[in-house]
Amino acid sequence: MSSVAGSFKLMKSLNRTLVLNSIRINGAIPRSEIAKETKLTAATVTNIVNELISEELVLETKPGISSGGRKPILLTINSKSRYVFGIDVGVNKIRFAIADLEAKIVVKETEKIFHPLNNEDFLELLTSKLQIMFKNFGEKKSKIVGIGIAMHGIVDNKNGVALLAPTLKLKNIPIKTVLEKEFGIPVRIENDAKTLALGEEWYGHGQSVKDLVCLNIGEGIGAGIILNHKLFHGNDNSAGEIGHTIIDINGPKCSCGNYGCFQSLASGHALKESALREISLGRTTLLREKCHDKLENIDGLLIYQCALKGDSLSVELLQKTGRYIGIGIVNIIHFLNPPLIIIGGGVSRAKEFILPSIYEVIDAKSITPNNTQVVVSKLGEDGSLIGAFTLVLSELFNSINSSLS
Ligand SMILES: [Zn+2]
Repeated sequence: MSSVAGSFKLMKSLNRTLVLNSIRINGAIPRSEIAKETKLTAATVTNIVNELISEELVLETKPGISSGGRKPILLTINSKSRYVFGIDVGVNKIRFAIADLEAKIVVKETEKIFHPLNNEDFLELLTSKLQIMFKNFGEKKSKIVGIGIAMHGIVDNKNGVALLAPTLKLKNIPIKTVLEKEFGIPVRIENDAKTLALGEEWYGHGQSVKDLVCLNIGEGIGAGIILNHKLFHGNDNSAGEIGHTIIDINGPKCSCGNYGCFQSLASGHALKESALREISLGRTTLLREKCHDKLENIDGLLIYQCALKGDSLSVELLQKTGRYIGIGIVNIIHFLNPPLIIIGGGVSRAKEFILPSIYEVIDAKSITPNNTQVVVSKLGEDGSLIGAFTLVLSELFNSINSSLS
């Protein structure tokens, strides 16, 4: 067993998990408060804290003097004692980043994906970039304890296999096996919407609830469902494929072959298609000027930028997208009634245009008054990367049921 694997094994004790998370969540806390919070004896807390300090996971602050007497020593997470890799696999690019134990990014790089590619090309792309980044991390590379990967499509998270990655046109990529063999550290893979949901639960808006649904609205639409603090995967790992729930049987054809799927009406791709349709019908819009008459350059970001400049077509298109997202959200509320729904992904950037329409539809179409809070992701552009770090960090900090070794 490697020393890193050993350090994970050592953490597999409920009391250690309680103490470690008490320090992590509070930021800085004296031993006496940990004992109160965890209901452990002072002696147990002292023993565990000593162990955590010797493993360099926890740091002590120097005591100061206050008017009320001696200040207690505070304990904090030694955030630079370990690092994790996070990888976010997009449609045309892969983002690689290294973060500390507080999920703070210390290195971030991007690689382009050149289509078409096969499984071997894809794995070679991951491996060669990781090798370079490990090398460039110098002496600290031995402190990297795991690799978390956010991947679109259907992922078998237990075996670490990307079962179906539609935009890369790839199937059954054995990512975990290949990367663990190459780098000798644990590798975790999860669908990108589920990864985002986990990131929100740990570091974003989801920290105070036990159930939430996180929508990832970009080129497609996926959802991560967290029930009782656990990601829900379903029988065949396809839970959360809300983008392919049908909301208009007479709607446009979806990439899956069906008609009127949620994502064929409310995704970034649908937004672009609607813009192109209106322009082809002769609608005047700032979009035409801003894309320099290259209509293929119109995307969600450009539509948002034109909406900010007051372009009426762009504003209308975003409001319409908001109404469709609202319908998808009403379906989630009726089906699961979660306390919190978080909207992430590129489309969420246009929140000032989509949120009012979303709230209107929820008010109009919910069958009962509900208290579900609907908000935009707190993690922003780096949401999927932060989620990818969390795949590893959540096991490190919650290792009672962990298989991370
Ligand atoms: Zn579909």
